[in-house]
Amino acid sequence: MVWNRWQVRPALANDRFADPGWSYQEPVVRPCPRCGGQLHSLRKPYESAGKTYRYVALVCPACPATFTLSEVGAKSTTTS
Ligand SMILES: [Zn+2]
Repeated sequence: MVWNRWQVRPALANDRFADPGWSYQEPVVRPCPRCGGQLHSLRKPYESAGKTYRYVALVCPACPATFTLSEVGAKSTTTS
C-alpha cells in the first residue's frame, strides 16, 4: 500500500482510500489545512459507463492525515 511510502497510517478521509490500486501522483501546491505542511496526491483510476475517471486522495505525512480535494478547497491538484 502507498502509505508505506511515508511509514504512516493516517486516518482516512474517505472509505475508498482504503481500497487497493492507489499510486503516488505528485506533490500538491496547496498546503495541509491542519499543519500547513506539504501535501501529496494519490490517484486511483476507475471506470464508469465506459469512461475512465480517477479518484484523488491528498495525504499529509506530517499530521498524518488524508483529505479529499474538496476538503482543501481545490478542484484539482494543480490549481492553487
Ligand atoms: Zn498536515
